[in-house]
Amino acid sequence: MRKKVIAGNWKMNNDLSESQNLITRLTSGLANLKINCDVIICPPYTSLSEANTLIKNTAIKLGAQNVYYEDNGAYTGEISPLMLKSVGCEYVIIGHSERRTIFKESNEMINKKIKKSLEHGLKVIFCIGETLEEREKNITNDVIRKQVMEGLQDISEKDISNMIIAYEPVWAIGTGRNATPQQAQDVHLFIRKLIEDKYSMSSADNLTIQYGGSVKPDNAKDLLSQPDIDGALVGGACLKAESFIEIIKAA
Ligand code: PEP
Repeated sequence: MRKKVIAGNWKMNNDLSESQNLITRLTSGLANLKINCDVIICPPYTSLSEANTLIKNTAIKLGAQNVYYEDNGAYTGEISPLMLKSVGCEYVIIGHSERRTIFKESNEMINKKIKKSLEHGLKVIFCIGETLEEREKNITNDVIRKQVMEGLQDISEKDISNMIIAYEPVWAIGTGRNATPQQAQDVHLFIRKLIEDKYSMSSADNLTIQYGGSVKPDNAKDLLSQPDIDGALVGGACLKAESFIEIIKAA
């Protein structure tokens, strides 16, 4: 039975004191709850170290929003997997659609980032998803297949057990327009079949596949009750402790 995973992607929001405030509200709100899922927060780089201190002895785990695929060197502005580990990160988001579109990250670059992160023992939340234009052209499955196959090139069956796939239709991110539970379920099942074909039935069965795209307290339960939706990657609604906690409760 797969445990659900709720992750909050803060994006470029919250300076240090705002981060302290949000984490304090989260930890106190979650303190007396019986939580049945894993909870991950992904603050900006500048708040990771402080976040790591504040979540000690709580159920919350720490992730970063991006990483570079070299260990160190002349890569001005970049952060390596080992640096993320040194500030307490267990997870890293790779391939978010904002990285793909705004920063032109290709499947090839995403694959390099995934491999380097896994090599250093980070767990990867690997994001994939189609644009509205691709959905309307009925090529969603082709786009997803390409992203999965190229993103996971040369990644072993053992390594896939340290990965989560987040299906995030680009048209649903930050738009307030979520995929219907059935639309999301259909793509999640398709992704699970791809993993079964590439690896094995047990890898596919054990893989956590999160849905992301305008997940809110009022739609979380319907989305999370689908058989192949194993959690949520939450953007806007994770910036308020109350709404993130409601989504955690729904899981
Ligand atoms: C995201 O950025 O991963 C995301 C899903 O954002 P939102 O929940 O705001 O749509």
